[in-house]
Amino acid sequence: MRRISFKYVELTFRFMINIGILGLQGAIEEHRKALNNAQLGLPFEINLVSVQQISDTKNLSGIVFPGGESTAMIKQGEASGLFNRLRELINDGLPAFGTCAGLILLSKRVKRTEGSEETKGIFSVLDVLTLRNGYGRQKDSFTTKLVIPDLGNKEIEGVFIRAPVISEIGNNVKVLSKTRGNPVFVQQGNIIATTFHPELSGSPEIHVYFLTLAQIYNDSSK
Ligand code: GLN
Repeated sequence: MRRISFKYVELTFRFMINIGILGLQGAIEEHRKALNNAQLGLPFEINLVSVQQISDTKNLSGIVFPGGESTAMIKQGEASGLFNRLRELINDGLPAFGTCAGLILLSKRVKRTEGSEETKGIFSVLDVLTLRNGYGRQKDSFTTKLVIPDLGNKEIEGVFIRAPVISEIGNNVKVLSKTRGNPVFVQQGNIIATTFHPELSGSPEIHVYFLTLAQIYNDSSK
């Protein structure tokens, strides 16, 4: 009697999960590279989808919101109805990862400047108050070493480019890293967000962590 080797079957059918990257504007290519690099050590394949319209949101197991210019992304994403669909998906548990401008999109409360009125964030799913350009202008961009105890305690390079400042957080938000007294990496359930750019540092830890959340979500939604 012939028996099918279990090992062989496992090797042949490594499964694939679809990961979206909001493809309207910003550091899209950098996230594509960082995700492909992060996948190398993981036991599943990823199929990266540039999300530009509603039809691109089918069968996603996670979505990345890159840095760039949040106002430009909002203009395009709202006009096409894409953001309404993404808002529904994230509210239903789709893992989301926002960096810099992407974090601004996910935030519940946003301030344009220190003195300005608070406004409701565009997706309003992450319970934080975020101050846009909170460290100052382009010339005030900086890099600093960050430690993330939950992700192996390794030092990683935090690249802050016209970064927002998270000035308040809700009880359900976990702070995974801080610098200069403010949270710079936070998590609320399946949502993670950084005020800096992990896709530019060459350290895969945060992208690996996100892909792990996406894989768990993929497994549970079958
Ligand atoms: N300052 C930008 C904004 O408000 C964000 C900067 C970035 O993503 N690097 O949208």
